[in-house]
Amino acid sequence: MSLQHSTEQRETQRDVNGHGEQEGIVVPLDLGAFRIRKQQLQEDGSIEVEVIATTDRARCPHCQRVCVKVHDPRPRRKRDLPLRGHRMVLVLLKRRFRCLMCRRSFTEPDQACGRRRRTPKRLREYLGKQASSRRVSHVAAEMQVGPRLVQSCLEEVAQVELAKRHLSLDETAVLPTPRYLGIDECARRQGHRYETILCNLDGRSVLEVSAGRTKEEVSHLLERLSDCDAVEAVSMDMSTTFREAVQLTLPRARIVADHFHVMQHVGKALKKVLARHAKKEPGKQALEGQRHLFLRNQQDLSAEEEQSRTALALAFPEIASAWQLKEALRSW
Ligand SMILES: [Zn+2]
Repeated sequence: MSLQHSTEQRETQRDVNGHGEQEGIVVPLDLGAFRIRKQQLQEDGSIEVEVIATTDRARCPHCQRVCVKVHDPRPRRKRDLPLRGHRMVLVLLKRRFRCLMCRRSFTEPDQACGRRRRTPKRLREYLGKQASSRRVSHVAAEMQVGPRLVQSCLEEVAQVELAKRHLSLDETAVLPTPRYLGIDECARRQGHRYETILCNLDGRSVLEVSAGRTKEEVSHLLERLSDCDAVEAVSMDMSTTFREAVQLTLPRARIVADHFHVMQHVGKALKKVLARHAKKEPGKQALEGQRHLFLRNQQDLSAEEEQSRTALALAFPEIASAWQLKEALRSW
């Protein structure tokens, strides 16, 4: 909602600006259902905006009849999105209604925050989106709110995104079954904690990330797939844990060692060959600072580098054949 040019609001714009300009700021509050009553720059630099709902009637939650009878409005202070570096406080005047039919009273619903919420919806969305790509503690400090609020906003945003993919944050929820499944592990907290990731390889999307990587933990995770018999193939590293968990829970699926992990092992083997030659003469001198020529992908080498690599390959036939096997498997 942009400001309506009532006298009252012009006056309060003057307050915000600090000098009596008639063409004041237009506060992009975008709170469709509310009218601004007052806005003031506070001594601490924050802007307080007092709003009240534009409607003068509400539906009685007890008998569902619409009533108009209003009791005293009660101010509710809420943090809102900052405006040009100013902290914003929304003072929401919530009115009490008394139903003339059933004679019970109720507070009008909170359209800025939603039911049972204390922070405006758009602030929660903003915090959640910020926390999607930054640390919760950083967002909390910057916005001067508690980390628990930011965390719950992040979960709210995540839930909406996950629901679009038929997924949820529920750690027991049934997962959609892909035809080709990918399993991998990832380290968290510098390798102090491991998590297992399930991917839909056809859709190139993550299905679930779950704590732990033991056979029991992975089996438990795989059992959540909606149809364990529908998985045709599972791609994974060469660990026995994943293999055993898949054989146990997805007996029909073919197990495929994925290219990335195979190449990781091949790379390690090639490094060993190089290290062996680099330990003794003449490799010690010839290979110093040159090992990357064999470890990198051939097409990533410059013409000059490729020339050096060919020369070294001629001098060290064992390295040359190990390298050839690596390149052949890599481009396979
Ligand atoms: Zn009623």
